Amino acid sequence: MTAVATKRVYLFHEGNAKMRDLLGGKGANLAEMTNIGLPVPPGFTITTEVCNEYYANGQKLPAGLMDDVRAAMKFVEEKMGRTFGGSYRPLLVSVRSGAKFSMPGMMDTILNLGLNETTARALIEETNNPRFVYDAYRRFIMMFSDVVLGLSKHDFDNKILQAYKEQKGYKSDLEMSAEDWKLISEKFLEYVREKTGRDFPTDPYEQLELAIEAVFKSWNNERAIVYRRTEKIPDNLGTAVNVQAMVFGNAGDDSGTGVAFTRDPSTGEKVMFGEYLMNAQGEDVVAGVRTPVPISELQSQNPELYRQFVEICNILERHYRDMQDLEFTIEHGRLFMLQCRSGKRTGPAAVKIAVDMVHEGLITKEEAVTRVTGSHLDQLLHPRIDPKALEGKKPLITGIPASPGAAVGKVVFDADTAAKLGVHGGAGEKVILVRDETNPDDVHGMLASQGVLTARGGKTSHAAVVARGFGIPCVVGAEGLKIDEEAKTFTVNGTTVHEGDVITLDGSSGAVYLGALPLIAPEVSGAFAELMSWADSIRKLRVRTNADNPRDARQAVELGAEGIGLCRTEHMFFEQDRLPIVQEMILAQDEAVRQNALDRLLPIQQKDFEEIFEVMAGKPVTIRLIDPPLHEFLPSHDELLAQVVELRVRGDNPQELAEKEKLLRAVEGMREANPMMGLRGCRLSIVFPGIVEMQTRAILQAAVAVKKRGIDVYPEIMIPLVGHVNELKTVRANLERVAKKVIEETGVAIDYKFGTMIEIPRAALVADQLADPQNGNAEFFSFGTNDLTQMTFGFSRDDAGKFLVPYLEQKILPTDPFETIDQEGVGKLMRMATESAKRVRPDIKLGICGEHGGDPDSVKFCHRIGLDYVSCSPFRVPIARLAAAQAAIENAAEGDK
Ligand code: ADP
Ligand code: MG
Ligand code: MG
Repeated sequence: MTAVATKRVYLFHEGNAKMRDLLGGKGANLAEMTNIGLPVPPGFTITTEVCNEYYANGQKLPAGLMDDVRAAMKFVEEKMGRTFGGSYRPLLVSVRSGAKFSMPGMMDTILNLGLNETTARALIEETNNPRFVYDAYRRFIMMFSDVVLGLSKHDFDNKILQAYKEQKGYKSDLEMSAEDWKLISEKFLEYVREKTGRDFPTDPYEQLELAIEAVFKSWNNERAIVYRRTEKIPDNLGTAVNVQAMVFGNAGDDSGTGVAFTRDPSTGEKVMFGEYLMNAQGEDVVAGVRTPVPISELQSQNPELYRQFVEICNILERHYRDMQDLEFTIEHGRLFMLQCRSGKRTGPAAVKIAVDMVHEGLITKEEAVTRVTGSHLDQLLHPRIDPKALEGKKPLITGIPASPGAAVGKVVFDADTAAKLGVHGGAGEKVILVRDETNPDDVHGMLASQGVLTARGGKTSHAAVVARGFGIPCVVGAEGLKIDEEAKTFTVNGTTVHEGDVITLDGSSGAVYLGALPLIAPEVSGAFAELMSWADSIRKLRVRTNADNPRDARQAVELGAEGIGLCRTEHMFFEQDRLPIVQEMILAQDEAVRQNALDRLLPIQQKDFEEIFEVMAGKPVTIRLIDPPLHEFLPSHDELLAQVVELRVRGDNPQELAEKEKLLRAVEGMREANPMMGLRGCRLSIVFPGIVEMQTRAILQAAVAVKKRGIDVYPEIMIPLVGHVNELKTVRANLERVAKKVIEETGVAIDYKFGTMIEIPRAALVADQLADPQNGNAEFFSFGTNDLTQMTFGFSRDDAGKFLVPYLEQKILPTDPFETIDQEGVGKLMRMATESAKRVRPDIKLGICGEHGGDPDSVKFCHRIGLDYVSCSPFRVPIARLAAAQAAIENAAEGDK
């Protein structure tokens, strides 16, 4: 076998920005900047493959690597007119790690490598600046000891240097003289000897080899592993090592170092944004040793340099066609670029920059659309805490961010108080509901609150799902929060918060703060609207909303919804004027009483539908017939039992006792071992057809009434929880009769459809039977992916919190299947159902109405399998519009290949 020599070392001019896999992000961009002619100190990159070789070799550098390094160093020496380790014009280098993805603070850089007594003396002769040389030397000893020898930086800085400065009475490093830095360097070397039992290495190539190895080692340090796990970065990428000639920002008052963004990363404004420090090196700017100055000052301090800098920024932006995050150093008035990368930005900045760059002719509309993410939009669509108010502010506690946006309000501990004090029917105060966890009894209180905070639960807990649905900021799983419901207080780390105290919570970060922080209102600004209009012109998928009431429907239309994909009718039954009638209907012993209750419910339901149809004005509205088990509308069994026991003991109210006992017996009669799999959905429509007959009549009569007012109406009646085609056939035949009757009675033709929700795996398997015009005759399907996921996995959504967290941590599941569609399993059912339904009924309308309808990855999946629309909660409508456009762009790009 002949060994193919793989190239292990790339000089900067041999690489380019596309080689991130091999050269790491930092190395690839240093290469790119070198090749477009920017002033980059020369250097070379040892590839990520060498890192993997190092590990495959049992943590040994591959043979011959250092020869390649020496050859590359020769080139750098020539470029610089210097010699590595030389006694005349010595070359110093930095050794910098750089993986494909930036891993901030993971692996530290060593500056000024190559210093020893000889090179230091030569440098002093050359520069006549011993202060600078010893400043560089002490930095090198400290960084090398920290990264290579495993001694803590902290000990050098805080113990030795700090003690020295205190003893001298110095306040700033600027007061340190050459002699001081020399002494410190000696103390540092002494400390190394003491701690490691040997001398600090003086041979520059030994220093370099050790440094290279240390960078490779750091790829697998604890911090790096944890960071990769949280950021989902694969462990086998490896890191590159960059070796680069030093330039010195600490060479005097005409030198300096800084960091900058080519645009403001928090607003997106096209202004230079950054900070620098004169006579400083490397990390001084971010480390807070001295307070840096805003980059705008450079304009007055050195206009020529500033002009040059702005020009370089413009070149880089035009070249990369994106906002850049830069590191630079000035050595004796000369500017050098040390790093560039795409800058991280807030949601508002992402939108503004993308739109501005289209206007500047830098990028296309398609590119603008792909550069903004769902979480960017999320930030824009909800109030945020003013970032200025957060400076130096510590959260009281941080939980799991479950529903984005910030909220300020008075703490309350129960849903009734929240409903009484809060908005939507309460006193109109701003309250935040704080509970251990929430359940369906709390929904009215959640609706009245600005935000919800729970001590327990995860991202799919009841609180999280409901809050997201309503667009209410929510933090869950704030462990350490101790609620005392009796005393109406909660305690965190010794701080007690009472009912009525004000807190601020940030559902985007999970942080909870004491007191009222100023909020910034969501800004559906010009740039946002423009970007969305581009997304709309690109996407193929339609976007609808899940809305149960006119208020949500109106909001969703404002955010661009093109219809309602899921209107749940049972929420209407819970309202206070209706619940007693609903209970009467459920508990009725004979048909006449039941029919009487239904007759009274009919006009109420009809009015609900009329309002929704009016708001949706000609857009399709999918209404799901009653779905939950009936016991949800009755008082809880345990509560009733407690009341009965108490009444029996007291014995003073035999009449009430008799009533409660009767109710209790009825509730007991309806008890099910597993109600979510019990008498509900279409099963209920078969056993008690009266309810859905009433609902169908209400829908059709509402449609007629609204149509008579000159507004188009397209009701789509959805029969839930179908598993067998005969269920659908039976219910549909019955309801079709009701619909026809209404049309006959009124003489107004309504364009209505019947369809079903695909939420039981069996329904997906027999989708062709369900869709077949000669059989189930469903004119549309809506994938109810919450239940479909629950039943395909056999995971109870309400209990999954207990095992999903370890499942995700141990990578048993790649993502939470209740958040992002499990494409291999649940998705396969969807794809099968879609294909087989289209075969028998090519014009069938297909949509999705689970929580997944607002999740960008799931939306893209829906596009790929050919659904017609996605439906999501109102606040996620813009995110779905954007994701749908991105899906269309991605597919077009794949088609090109
Ligand atoms: P990080 O990834 O943590 O930013 P870097 O490798 O970019 O680490 O370097 C840390 C600091 O050292 C940066 O401020 C950088 O500009 C500076 N630096 C790195 N290499 C050199 C060099 N050759 N000359 C001068 N400064 C350098
Ligand atoms: Mg850097
Ligand atoms: Mg369901």
